Amino acid sequence: MDCIFCQIVAGKVSTEFLYQDEDAVAFRDIHPIAPTHIIIIPKKHIPSLAHLSEEQLPLMGHMVRIANQLAKREGIATQGYRLVINCGKEGGQVVPHLHIHLLGGRRISDKLG
Ligand code: AMP
Ligand code: ZN
Repeated sequence: MDCIFCQIVAGKVSTEFLYQDEDAVAFRDIHPIAPTHIIIIPKKHIPSLAHLSEEQLPLMGHMVRIANQLAKREGIATQGYRLVINCGKEGGQVVPHLHIHLLGGRRISDKLG
């Protein structure tokens, strides 16, 4: 198993989980680009958004709900935050395990693209 996020799910890389349930976990990004920078991932290895099956679509809603809850817990829900999903090489995806970035705590002013 050489996927770093699968290793995190399996407890092989020591990481503090901010949230975990049967289907998903969340933890702080190791190289944060904002005061709040949290990664939300499915436990199952799904390589990217492009690999998401029809049956897995509800999982995305579940992960967005987790992100919204964490934004509240981090105290950034009112000020605002950004969710980012990079997909594939040109989309800027580096870790090939589907994940949502939750960014906030500063003005995320960089324009898309
Ligand atoms: P992406 O470019 O969307 O694939 O983003 C991958 C993110 O995972 C980057 O922001 C990395 O800093 C983050 N990352 C990589 N390894 C770890 C790790 N062991 N723990 C926490 N975050 C990680
Ligand atoms: Zn994986």
